[in-house]
Amino acid sequence: MDLDFTAAEDAFRTAARAWLTENVPATPLPSLETREGFAAHRDWERRLAADRWSVVSWPEAYGGRGASLLQWLVFEEEYYAAGAPGRVGQNGISLLAPTLFEHGTEEQRARVLGPMATGEVVWAQAWSEPESGSDLASLRSTAVRTDGGWLLSGQKTWSSRAAFADRAFGLFRSEPGTDKPHHGLTYLMFPLDAPGVTVRPIGRLDGKPAFAELFLDEVFVPDADVIGEPGRGWWVAMSTAGNERGLTLRSPGRFTAAADRLTALWHAAADPGDTALRDRVADAVIGARAYRLFAYANASRLAAGGTLGAESSLNKVFWSELDIALHETALDLLGPYGTLADGADEAPAHGSWADGYVFSLAGPIYAGTNEIQRNIIAERLLGLPKGRR
Ligand SMILES: Cc1cc2nc3c(=O)[nH]c(=O)nc-3n(C[C@H](O)[C@H](O)[C@H](O)COP(=O)(O)OP(=O)(O)OC[C@H]3O[C@@H](n4cnc5c(N)ncnc54)[C@H](O)[C@@H]3O)c2cc1C
Repeated sequence: MDLDFTAAEDAFRTAARAWLTENVPATPLPSLETREGFAAHRDWERRLAADRWSVVSWPEAYGGRGASLLQWLVFEEEYYAAGAPGRVGQNGISLLAPTLFEHGTEEQRARVLGPMATGEVVWAQAWSEPESGSDLASLRSTAVRTDGGWLLSGQKTWSSRAAFADRAFGLFRSEPGTDKPHHGLTYLMFPLDAPGVTVRPIGRLDGKPAFAELFLDEVFVPDADVIGEPGRGWWVAMSTAGNERGLTLRSPGRFTAAADRLTALWHAAADPGDTALRDRVADAVIGARAYRLFAYANASRLAAGGTLGAESSLNKVFWSELDIALHETALDLLGPYGTLADGADEAPAHGSWADGYVFSLAGPIYAGTNEIQRNIIAERLLGLPKGRR
């Protein structure tokens, strides 16, 4: 592996940095977990897309720049270092789009990807159900065949930003009574404002209203919105889940930028004699750099035609624990002011450390809990015997 950037990658970094310097809002946008913030972030997606910075790794025909995975990592580093807004289109961009590139039809790509890239249509992920989170294949929502399409019924839960999103994608049981739970599932896209859909916000620790559960009562979806073959939805879904955990959900730029901010905070606010805190800052910085190198190694492997496989679980556990450690260390450095949230006048860094800390606590849960990832590491990477289920 060559550890130097090419001239093209350096030029890409320079162009991204110049655009971000010119365009990132001077004051942070309101939280994208609120109605007002959601709308402001949708505008930001439009601005990114207008100069083709919203989906850099997509082909040019769909609004991207045809950037390589390494260039995407470079872009993400610049994005986070610039303190640019969170991505309200992330579910669509990092989960549904790769699914469509791999399993969708040309018609679906032509129809769905453009409005996704501009933020005109924001997508929610509707995979989890009240009793089907870790054991996703036990899901019970149904898709029943009807003229020209399917009728969806059931309940989906823990859907990020679904209270304000436009459409959702999820798995439904279309062949009841199959011999294995992951057989007979179908992957479908559906509108959140269709007759029969009820969206109900779920309270969050920080009181923000975007997280939601969905109730579906015979919601009509045309055949054109089935992704892949009916009954084969599990394989369609799993083909993108590995990359999500292993690379695309959390690029290292997020952590290297936070580690840099933490170092600056240490210099500005810490007692130099507090060696215990100093060591935690150093550990967080080393962790962020280690994750960066691991991500570049993974990207090089993928670019050379390799796959990620069960190693994705190592990444997922690593970044989620690193995120908590980074934020906990910052809060300990800031003292009582650090716990003030984004609405408070005296909240350091507009409350982003407190906000980031609360969100980091969810990291070991979403995208597959860390207990499940540790099972995968134990069984598939270390060859240990299967645990009791
Ligand atoms: C902030 C946040 C955002 C989310 N966003 C979305 C979203 O947009 N769309 C969506 O579909 N879902 C979303 N989720 C749901 C998430 O994917 C699930 O919470 C997750 O899969 C765990 O499922 P569960 O909550 O049902 O917990 P459970 O599966 O009930 O697990 C409860 C506990 O038991 C442990 N456990 C379960 N089975 C085993 C086992 N076999 N071995 C060892 N331990 C086990 C788990 O690790 C966990 O600690 C989100 C969750 C959070 C917290």
